[in-house]
Amino acid sequence: MSSSTLSYINPSPNSPWGIYLSQVDRVVPYLGDLARWVETLKRPKRALIVDVPIEMDDGAVVHFEGYRVQHNLSRGPGKGGVRFHPDVTLEEVMALSAWMTVKCAAVNLPYGGAKGGIRVDPGKLSQKELERVTRRYTSEIGLIIGPLSDIPAPDVNTNAQIMAWMMDTYSMNVGGTATGVVTGKPLHLGGSLGRVKATGRGVFVTGREAARRHGLELRGARVAVQGFGNVGSSAAELFAEAGAKIVAVQDHTGTLVNDKGFDVAGLVAYARREGGIAGFKGGEAIGEEAFWGAPCDILIPAALEGQLTAERARRVQARMVLEGANGPTVPEADDILAERGVLVVPDVICNAGGVTVSYFEWVQDFSSFFWDEEEINERLDRIMMNGLNHIWDKADRHKIPLRTATYAVACERILMARKERGLYP
Ligand code: NAD
Repeated sequence: MSSSTLSYINPSPNSPWGIYLSQVDRVVPYLGDLARWVETLKRPKRALIVDVPIEMDDGAVVHFEGYRVQHNLSRGPGKGGVRFHPDVTLEEVMALSAWMTVKCAAVNLPYGGAKGGIRVDPGKLSQKELERVTRRYTSEIGLIIGPLSDIPAPDVNTNAQIMAWMMDTYSMNVGGTATGVVTGKPLHLGGSLGRVKATGRGVFVTGREAARRHGLELRGARVAVQGFGNVGSSAAELFAEAGAKIVAVQDHTGTLVNDKGFDVAGLVAYARREGGIAGFKGGEAIGEEAFWGAPCDILIPAALEGQLTAERARRVQARMVLEGANGPTVPEADDILAERGVLVVPDVICNAGGVTVSYFEWVQDFSSFFWDEEEINERLDRIMMNGLNHIWDKADRHKIPLRTATYAVACERILMARKERGLYP
């Protein structure tokens, strides 16, 4: 008997939870006897909805809606970022938490999956209002987070300062300094070297290996990047350092192309200063939709989920898609890209660099002993390469796409843990 319909959400095939469910369904034939436990992946263990009321600077009281979802804790504490965005929904956070479960298992970190979010546009808040929202939200989800139960981190529109406020609020509430409750903190508060650029670095490391296996020379390769925040800009810097040309960039403010390759450092500095890439003089502005058909060899979606639709997938010129964002490709687009011979390195391995260095940060916080950046990057590269090689072997053995292979490797680990732990009570 199947029981995977949840009364509290109504996903469509291209909505985040709908995409996730279809990704799980695709892997069932490769799970053998463990398929018996697959239902456990199709429902979150726990979903908390919280009211976040704050006093604005002008004295008005405003309420925001917040969430923390723990999708699966079979392999360890929940791990996953917190997103501040006006369009965040419970369904989106559920899907993001589930992708964290799969991602942590794909690179074999001892974590389950979780995610959080607040329906807020942080660009419209003062710094003080942002701090109040963060602190109230942290107090509310304090019921279920903790260094041994669920460890938040940055995601879209959240950063090291917000993690510092979260750590401080949680610490005040428990009466001790609990650095291990969040990762992505500032360095002098138990943060780790290498964390800020870790996700972009992971995208680069997996992309470099995928290019090697795909016979694509990185030097001179043309790269298009959607999303020029933490992940997109760090990945762009590393590809440019390796000799690739960043020829198209899109963010929420505009789309720019430059077939000679952007001055990436200049564009990063400009976007940081101006809040976006629009108006940067070193490129030509084009229409939003033209981005997807821009001539390039590597396409890196690093903004939000659901961006690579079926229609856009038909226009993609790249030979490889590296999923920096979570859930950027809808399942129909996945099939179209596969038919067209475009290799997709899926999010659940491609962007796992961030959670991997978050894991290093958590370990360093527990031992109160901090590693140098070289050691962190070496360990990161090793974990990413081991994860990718294992997945590639699985894909070759079964002649399946990398995404299905990643889900097969990860879901086996998750469901094996579920089976071995057994059901409580
Ligand atoms: P960020 O807030 O630093 O940057 C987001 C970028 O996306 C910005 O440049 C923004 O302008 C752009 N963007 C937003 N809406 C857009 C739209 N409609 N069209 C084009 N661009 C748009 O966020 P980030 O941390 O870089 O996260 C980006 C993605 O990577 C998200 O899917 C996130 O879940 C995923 N991710 C982040 C991390 C991490 O460590 N930060 C780790 C793994 C995955």
